Amino acid sequence: MSQTEKCGYVAIIGRPNVGKSTLLNSLVGKKVSIISPKPQTTRNQIIGIKTIGSTQIVFIDTPGLHKAEKRAMNRYMNRLASSVIVDADVIIFMIEALRFTDDEEMILQKLKETQAPVILVINKIDKIKDKSRLLPFIESIKTKFNFAEIVPMSVKKMDNVNLLEESIIEFLPEGPHFYPDEQVTDKNERFQIAELIREKLIMATEEELPYSTTVMVDSLEEDEKLTKISAIIWVEREGQKPIVIGKDGALLKKIGTLARKDIEKLLGKKVFLRLWVKVKSDWSDDERALQSLGYDPTPTRE
Ligand code: GDP
Ligand code: MG
Repeated sequence: MSQTEKCGYVAIIGRPNVGKSTLLNSLVGKKVSIISPKPQTTRNQIIGIKTIGSTQIVFIDTPGLHKAEKRAMNRYMNRLASSVIVDADVIIFMIEALRFTDDEEMILQKLKETQAPVILVINKIDKIKDKSRLLPFIESIKTKFNFAEIVPMSVKKMDNVNLLEESIIEFLPEGPHFYPDEQVTDKNERFQIAELIREKLIMATEEELPYSTTVMVDSLEEDEKLTKISAIIWVEREGQKPIVIGKDGALLKKIGTLARKDIEKLLGKKVFLRLWVKVKSDWSDDERALQSLGYDPTPTRE
């Protein structure tokens, strides 16, 4: 006897750095979204797909919502996050334990425009020593919005991640699966490769640089044993090149080595990776430049 199929979109929203991408990867069981301790690591909308028997959950990881900023990149990210809220079947609103800031208030205002059930996830409870402080925190947030569910969580320690999955499934609508059951993301190989390089770049460089860089796979040649990849790291100004390259090329080499290992895991093959650093002036401030790098300024879901 076949069970009724369930499928729906689940948007994961919240301020930058609360742990959205970490949660997505844990739920899907693969690194489909890159992670870093720095805010605004996730630039594009990433879809992670999980199929459990007759149920398929399509998660949408969004760049963090935050108050309006001038730069084109930030405007783009805000638009992206808002459009996702409107279409979701279930919304996961993620916050950090004991922190409810103006950014969270702003997101709550947006959530009032939707009909979808909102599950509040209070992440990083592992960081709270005195757990008795959580209860009054939860009580005060409860008064602000009619949440379908409130789940305290530590993605890091895998506390309550399964519980969250169970309550998501309860709220999913019935319907056929959108993706093949074995698929875990909507992004192609080149995108995933560029993202893995960007993750290492973010880890290796200082605070402000991630805003002004992007990565593009330039060529990808496969033969039986080896995949040869050439990728470009675009920086905004000539002066940023030495920051990425490092003394005698040491930093670029380190980024390349770490990225190559992750790419080999992704492709299941040996990889030869070549990285180039090039200057694209003011790209993050120019919507046309964003488009030429593959960021669609009016994003849709498919
Ligand atoms: P995003 O910007 O919301 O996507 O956040 P990320 O998933 O990139 O995570 C931001 C940082 O928080 C990373 O350094 C994660 O390792 C860390 N993090 C995520 N979940 C937890 C958690 O449950 N506990 C702790 N202590 N850190 C976490
Ligand atoms: Mg993220």
